[in-house]
Amino acid sequence: MKAVVFEKFGEAPTIQTVADPTPAPEGVVIKVEATGLCRSDWHGWMGHDDGIRLPHVPGHELAGVVVASGSGVTRWKAGERVTVPFAVGCGRCFECTSGNHQVCEHQFQPGFSAWGSFAEYVAIDHADTNLVRLPDEMEFATAASLGCRFVTSFRAIVDQGRVTPGEWVVVHGCGGVGLSAIMIASAMGANVIAIDLTDEKLDFASKIGAVATINAAKTPNVVKAVKQITNGGAHMSMDALGHPTTSFNSIANLRRRGRHVQVGLMLGDHARPQIPMDKVIAFELEIRGSHGMQAYRYQAMMEMIRTGKLKPELLVGKRISLEEAPAALMAMGGFEGIGIGVVTKF
Ligand SMILES: [Zn+2]
Ligand SMILES: [Zn+2]
Repeated sequence: MKAVVFEKFGEAPTIQTVADPTPAPEGVVIKVEATGLCRSDWHGWMGHDDGIRLPHVPGHELAGVVVASGSGVTRWKAGERVTVPFAVGCGRCFECTSGNHQVCEHQFQPGFSAWGSFAEYVAIDHADTNLVRLPDEMEFATAASLGCRFVTSFRAIVDQGRVTPGEWVVVHGCGGVGLSAIMIASAMGANVIAIDLTDEKLDFASKIGAVATINAAKTPNVVKAVKQITNGGAHMSMDALGHPTTSFNSIANLRRRGRHVQVGLMLGDHARPQIPMDKVIAFELEIRGSHGMQAYRYQAMMEMIRTGKLKPELLVGKRISLEEAPAALMAMGGFEGIGIGVVTKF
């Protein structure tokens, strides 16, 4: 099969012909029909993820058709249209059996712990626990865009952030994660403030539900601006970018008993950012992480998509071919364009 391969961290990936994957006893092989481009792939390529062994095939936001399944798989057979969360739970450890597959102790991550979906085929382990059937009307590009950023935002806003109608929600960073979070929080009935450095992304954020925007490049004190708009601070705030400044601001702009959820990855030099711990104590603030979403929670999100409350298809950006993927991956370190880029031609 054709695949995007990198031999060394930080060196240009190339298109290579490699062996077709075979299914693990509890796994399947999926013919990839669409795979999203994500900043996490860029982090992996840069060498920020110590789980990656070289040579490596990136890609973890995928949708496709099952072509083969292992002898132990009971729920899935060839021909079914599926997607999968990026953190695939083993189904057996304490976290999995308590319903928290997203933090499984032995998680399988395509594009990180194993070869990913920037290829014609990808092998996914623990299929019975983790595969999600696609609604007939959902196209593969939309389904692929759910896999990492949209589901992560759904869990961050709904399950971890516990957003309720009428609350003020602030989203720092309007890339794929941020725009997803704005759409989801707004559908949950919250008043959403979008923050970014570009007016173009902020205009788009307004179109999908933000009631106010702040251009951080033109605003000397972002925290003060949030407190003014919200009359005292946000109930829930999210760092969707993953940067010491946005993380700090997202905590500092909370009102008393506010909740911060960190979704943007903090790796390399950014792994240990400053936290306004004085405020965390005095205001009883909550700080939570959010890491993917369990396959069984997809159903709630899929129902909101089916009824038109959520429209992830609006967030699908550029569609490219596998041949264009290496250049697009290397460019992810800079600022992204609007929406989620998806490889749809293999
Ligand atoms: Zn597990
Ligand atoms: Zn991702």
